[in-house]
Amino acid sequence: MPKIVAANWKMNLRRQSAVELAWALKSDGRKCWLFPAFPHLAPVHDALIGSELTLGAQDVSPDADGACTGDVSAEMLADTGCTLVLVGHSERRHGHGETAELLARKLKRALEAGLKPLYCVGETLEQRKAGKAQAVVKDHLSTLAGTEGIAAVAYEPVWAIGTGETATPGQAAEMHAFIREELKKLGLRLPILYGGSVKPENALELMSHPDVDGVLVGGASLELTSLRAIDDAAREIE
Ligand code: PEP
Repeated sequence: MPKIVAANWKMNLRRQSAVELAWALKSDGRKCWLFPAFPHLAPVHDALIGSELTLGAQDVSPDADGACTGDVSAEMLADTGCTLVLVGHSERRHGHGETAELLARKLKRALEAGLKPLYCVGETLEQRKAGKAQAVVKDHLSTLAGTEGIAAVAYEPVWAIGTGETATPGQAAEMHAFIREELKKLGLRLPILYGGSVKPENALELMSHPDVDGVLVGGASLELTSLRAIDDAAREIE
């Protein structure tokens, strides 16, 4: 299976730079998954027409259309041309205190609207040091019980996101093998991406392991040259 390269642009870029990046990736024939900020979804969607790039949102409301000021519903995202959505990213799970119950509702809404969630799991440094990394990840995965239509799982150790610190290929491979086993117990067979300070310098080594099906990239996905280099690494392994 070709390795997946997903770009989480977070709360970065301006409309023009997001569109330019999308155009450049399209002209290059890339097949990445792109997660721009909400205001950039529509213009990036238009830029991607005729390409093999896939559009996703960074978050979704747990509720259907209605009186939820500031929220964006799954139906609105689908209507804007999104096919993917991030759910459970640590900057929401920890940064915004999103609970398992809330994430389950987001997953349900996304799936009902035909969006495919990219579901993120991962332990904090404190949890890893306490020897609880696998227990935490297992708990995060339990939210997927009974779901159908998930795009992929991303293992993102919280201590590696935006810190410049990356899990070693050994740490990533060990957790990915664990996740695969846990998913099997839930009756799920899904691609498992690694995320956490992925850069051109470490992408090839991380993706070389057969249990690492691709990468979710934050900071290094904002520059065409680095995103291209990471995608080149992914294509090298195919
Ligand atoms: C992310 O946002 O999912 C991420 C992994 O960020 P970074 O690559 O910047 O660590």
